[in-house]
Amino acid sequence: MKEIVLATDLGGTNLRMAAVDCNGTILYRTKERTPRSKDGHAILDAIVSMGEECRVKLGSATLVAVATAVPGTIDFENGVITNAPNLPELNGFAMAGELRKRLGIAAVLENDANAAAIGEHWLGASKDVDNSVMVTLGTGVGGGIFVHGKVVRGKDGTAGEIGHINVEPDGPACGCGSHGCVEQYSSASAVVRIAGELAATHPESALNRAEDLSAEEIYEIALAGDAAAGEVFRIQGYYLGIMLAGVINTLNPDCIVIGGGASGSWDLFIPHLRSELKARSYKEPAERAKIVRSGLGDDAGILGGVRLGFLSAASRLEAADSTL
Ligand SMILES: [Zn+2]
Repeated sequence: MKEIVLATDLGGTNLRMAAVDCNGTILYRTKERTPRSKDGHAILDAIVSMGEECRVKLGSATLVAVATAVPGTIDFENGVITNAPNLPELNGFAMAGELRKRLGIAAVLENDANAAAIGEHWLGASKDVDNSVMVTLGTGVGGGIFVHGKVVRGKDGTAGEIGHINVEPDGPACGCGSHGCVEQYSSASAVVRIAGELAATHPESALNRAEDLSAEEIYEIALAGDAAAGEVFRIQGYYLGIMLAGVINTLNPDCIVIGGGASGSWDLFIPHLRSELKARSYKEPAERAKIVRSGLGDDAGILGGVRLGFLSAASRLEAADSTL
């Protein structure tokens, strides 16, 4: 009988689930807005009911695990969400155990950027590459690091938080409590904020055309030749380059994969990113590190979850930890 993993991508806005086989073929998808409640049970209930929906749709297939990619810090071994800044009702929630009980299958949690890195390593842009860094440019900036073929989670599960590497000591306040993290310059939210700041000082710019421009709309304005909009993406690439130069000097990776919604402005930011890498990192590692776009797009986290789900099925969580 065909074995299936249910992989959930839990975002601040949307909750997506896919039923996927061991080759990474997506057999069924479902999606809803992330429900909010005082504690995490609204989210738990939604995942359980989406799981039941998949079970019905797939008929005779055997569900072996549910894997959830979470925007926050995870205690991987114990399946507990330690800290989820955008979904604080989940802080301290032992979600893996609850899912195991309710769905009757193995359950594993992973940080969303780590899950994306695992997906890219399994089937995407860093397939079979031993040393890689995944950068996700979304509402925030996330990171997932592979060293010698294993995810680096660190003692507290916070390793890979490259979005909170400082690039301007006195820069804007960041949600992490620091100032001037790269997340404040290179995330989708930062693109929108910086465009607003530049619009105010450039009355001639088409950035003043409408309020509440999205990162995609700002990108379109820049493509049409608007100088202030172009500056937004120079800033995005410049600071990403400064951060990644430090990462390359620290880790000497084979490959850096950049994904997430705000990586859509790739062609505008990448020249600035590359020139900072060249200026700021050691020559050999800077030349070695291939900078590539995500191969799996929005499904990177889902597919990373699938990989973990198969490894953790039948209580092989220890195997998952030692393999990835
Ligand atoms: Zn920060």
